[in-house]
Amino acid sequence: QGRLQGKRILITAAGQGIGRATALACAAEGAEVIATDRNPALLADLQGMRTEVLDVTDQAAIDRLAAATGPLDGLFNCAGVVHGGTVLEIQDEDWAFAFDLNVTAMMRMVRAFLPQMLTRADQTGSVSIVNMASMASSLKGFVNRTTYGASKAAVIGLTKGIAADFVKQGLRCNALCPGTVDTPSLRGRIASAADPVQAERDFIARQPTGRLASVEDIAPMVVYLLSDDSRFVTGQAMLVDGGVTI
Ligand code: NAD
Repeated sequence: QGRLQGKRILITAAGQGIGRATALACAAEGAEVIATDRNPALLADLQGMRTEVLDVTDQAAIDRLAAATGPLDGLFNCAGVVHGGTVLEIQDEDWAFAFDLNVTAMMRMVRAFLPQMLTRADQTGSVSIVNMASMASSLKGFVNRTTYGASKAAVIGLTKGIAADFVKQGLRCNALCPGTVDTPSLRGRIASAADPVQAERDFIARQPTGRLASVEDIAPMVVYLLSDDSRFVTGQAMLVDGGVTI
C-alpha cells in the first residue's frame, strides 16, 4: 500500500524538472495524479496519470479546471520562474512577471481549489497544499537573485497565511525550499551565462555537499508533505538544500 493511496493530487509545472519527478513519485505511492503544465508536449509521455494543459497565469483556465476536477486531497504548486540581476538591473516587466507567476498564480490556484479541498479536510490532517518556494527567499540572500528571492519570500508568507487561516479545519499548507537542483531550466541558466563552465562551477561551489541536488533528492519531501506522515506539520518552510543554510 503506497503512502498516497486514495489521494487525488494535482501538480502544476509537472512537465519537467521537480514537478515531473514529483508527479512520478506520487503516482508510485498510489496517488491519483493530475499532472498539469503549460506545455502539452512535456506532458505527452507521462504514464499512469491524468494530464491537463494548464497555464497557471490564466485565471479562467484555473477556474475551469477546478470546476472539472472535483475535490483534491493534495495540491503541489510548483510553477515558477527565475530572473537574474541585482536590484539595479531589475526591469519592471520582469519583476511584475515574476510576482505574477511565482506568487499571484499560486494564490489563485489555492483560492480556486481550497473550498473543495476543505470538504475533504478533517482533524486527521490528510489534506495538504505544498507551495514551491526556495532557499533563495526570506531564508537566505543570493547574488543576482533579488527578484526571485523577493517573490519566493512572498510564497513563504502566502503559505503561512493559508496555514494559519485553515489549521482549525484540518487543512495543512507548507512551503518547499530546495537548494540548487539540476533541472532543464537550471541547465538553461548555466548555458546562457557569459562563461557556462564557470557558472556551473559556481553553482556547485555553494553546495557544501559538492554536488547539485537531483530532482529525486527533492520529490520525497513533497511526497512526505502530501502524505499523512506529515499530519502534524503545517506552516513550515521545509529546506532541502544539502546544507547550504547550515
Ligand atoms: P523547470 O523550470 O525546468 O520547468 C518548469 C516547468 O514549468 C516547465 O515544464 C514549464 O513548461 C512549466 N511552466 C512554466 N510556466 C508555466 C505556467 N505559466 N503555467 C504552467 N506551467 C508553467 O523546473 P524546475 O527547475 O524544477 O523549477 C520548478 C520550480 O522549482 C520553480 O518554481 C522554481 O522556482 C523552483 N525551484 C527550482 C530550483 C532549481 O534549482 N531548479 C531551486 C529551488 C526552487
